[in-house]
Amino acid sequence: GKPICECNACFKGPDCAEFVPDCVVDADSGDPMFLEPFWLKHAASSAVVVPGWHRMSYEFSDCSLISKELKMHIRKLHATVGNANTDGRYIIFGAGATQLLNAAVHSLSSHDDPSSPSRIVASVPYYPVYREQTQFFESNNYKFSGETSKWKDNMDSLSNYIEFVTSPNNPDGQLKKAVLQGPSVKTIHDLAYFWPHFTPIPAPADEDLMVFTISKLTGHAGSRFGWALIKNEAVYQRMLAYMSLSTHGVPRETQLRVLKLLKVVLEEKGREMFEFGYEAMRNRWKKLSKILSISKRFSLQDLEHQNCSFSKIFRAPSPAFAWLKCEKEEDKNCFEVLKTSNIIGREGSLFGAESRFVRLSLVQSQDDFDLLLQRMETLVVLEEK
Ligand code: PMP
Repeated sequence: GKPICECNACFKGPDCAEFVPDCVVDADSGDPMFLEPFWLKHAASSAVVVPGWHRMSYEFSDCSLISKELKMHIRKLHATVGNANTDGRYIIFGAGATQLLNAAVHSLSSHDDPSSPSRIVASVPYYPVYREQTQFFESNNYKFSGETSKWKDNMDSLSNYIEFVTSPNNPDGQLKKAVLQGPSVKTIHDLAYFWPHFTPIPAPADEDLMVFTISKLTGHAGSRFGWALIKNEAVYQRMLAYMSLSTHGVPRETQLRVLKLLKVVLEEKGREMFEFGYEAMRNRWKKLSKILSISKRFSLQDLEHQNCSFSKIFRAPSPAFAWLKCEKEEDKNCFEVLKTSNIIGREGSLFGAESRFVRLSLVQSQDDFDLLLQRMETLVVLEEK
């Protein structure tokens, strides 16, 4: 069995089996624990043992055999799933997509003219880290310039633009395309959720700079591993320099573990894990949608059924998050509305959207999801009274 070091807020006792009434349900974090049962089933084949003498050296990861093999497996994975074209692309590793996002901003931004920093933009609702990170790392080369739509027909001729495109989008699960066009625009495609668990895959992505992460693919968020596929060699070199100066590359232990995980995923050409992931996400979305279908107070985002080239069927939605809207005039702050019922979501305002919206995570463990569902059901039942 799995050792338990801490119960979540809704359970107590030595086995975390005792329910705590009136507890606070955490639907805030995007920690993808829904995949844990898959890995419990594959515990032996996914295990790694690292003896003390193994891989001690600084030796730069890009030249080592393990990273060559890992890159080969990443290419194989994309080819198998059909979600990204890796032909002619360089691959770089990072400590999660988080590190790669800023490495990409750094590499694409203007270095020659400090009077005109690159404008970093994203479409609302956007993943808050784009703004937070860009502001935190404060650079003469770039600055966060708000939502993309503000610049669409109004680009300033002296500036370069870097547009974040998140597809499917966090928080609302929509498949997205770049909005800005022209020679002064570069894009970072954050494809963290472009896997069959969370979305139909209509066609392979074929963009200049694409970022992926093991966190949302296999659920191993704690391993801190992401990768980027990069078309342009100079951009790749600048990203390598960033990695070298910030952390001197991704821990080799992490690379070994990720290689082992990808081998297990690829054993069945990904079928087993993606079927497990899709069924889990699909069931959760179906259950939540059903409960909310009779509500006049809350609504969910609309998501289309689409053809999926991986599963070869016309597929129903299975998003990682619910983007919930409080419909009533008086419920202006949806986060507070849910909080009074002991549900903690993530405030819409953090995503650049109205406070009428709140994001609810659907990727947590089954226990956490079941509690969220119960609480939402209670809220909807109360509405009818
Ligand atoms: N991009 C998006 C859209 C995300 O939702 C997340 C994780 N919440 C990340 C990037 C960062 O992932 P990682 O764990 O690889 O740093």
